Amino acid sequence: MPFRYFGKINYTPYTKVAEFADELHKGNLVGSKCNDCGEKSFPPRADCANCMSGDFKLVKVKPNGTLVTFTTIHSPPDGFEDIAPYTLGLVDLEEGGRLLSWFENTEPEDIKIGMKVKVIPKIFEEIEEIKLYYALEKE
Ligand SMILES: [Zn+2]
Repeated sequence: MPFRYFGKINYTPYTKVAEFADELHKGNLVGSKCNDCGEKSFPPRADCANCMSGDFKLVKVKPNGTLVTFTTIHSPPDGFEDIAPYTLGLVDLEEGGRLLSWFENTEPEDIKIGMKVKVIPKIFEEIEEIKLYYALEKE
């Protein structure tokens, strides 16, 4: 199954890590673990960055991380006008891997570099083009 949850227009007809979207839809954050050398990656990679093996399995990743940096968007791109201003955060996950997402349910004055955050899988019911995403919340 392709990344159907990421939108109706999909330029990725097939991917070995498509289960990533299925797991996110179920509320699970998953990364990949190489079956040959054990290297972990988030987001999941079909081919190991360490040994180039294509043999991997998906493993659950703890949703806890540390905020590396953040920025608040006041002039958003098309399609995001109704949620601006919003704050994007770059997060290093406890178990390795880095991701970018926006904050929800967190007061702007509480957002500080180095703070502990949690990554929460979410589903947009009201926006047809993007159905699945994850948000950051203060831990
Ligand atoms: Zn490997």
